[in-house]
Amino acid sequence: MRCRYCAEYVGLFRRCCADCRTLLEVYERHRADIALSELLDRLIATGVARPKIEAVLERDPDGTGSVRDRVTADMSNRLLAAMGVPAKQTAADVRKLRERGGGTASTARPAGDAAPPRTRGSS
Ligand SMILES: [Zn+2]
Repeated sequence: MRCRYCAEYVGLFRRCCADCRTLLEVYERHRADIALSELLDRLIATGVARPKIEAVLERDPDGTGSVRDRVTADMSNRLLAAMGVPAKQTAADVRKLRERGGGTASTARPAGDAAPPRTRGSS
């Protein structure tokens, strides 16, 4: 078997190498209250090689969303919750937004909903 993240050979019965496991443990430990930049600092602090860190952030072997997308989703959910908005953004939503070019956030109002008055024909 090869590591599901960095593709390093890990033996028959393991799905993940020790380095990537360490990185995932750091993520699991801090996921409740960490921003992506802080998480990155902590991952780098483990001493694991940078390409592996990037693999762990970007890969999505379970189809549940990459760590990067999950951290982003958790962060926006916390932000929305702090503003009193029911928060249920998922890693899949984050990925969709990013794949679309990241134009509209999920907090955007539908067109015509309490939009500020607009002068016709401008812009
Ligand atoms: Zn690995």
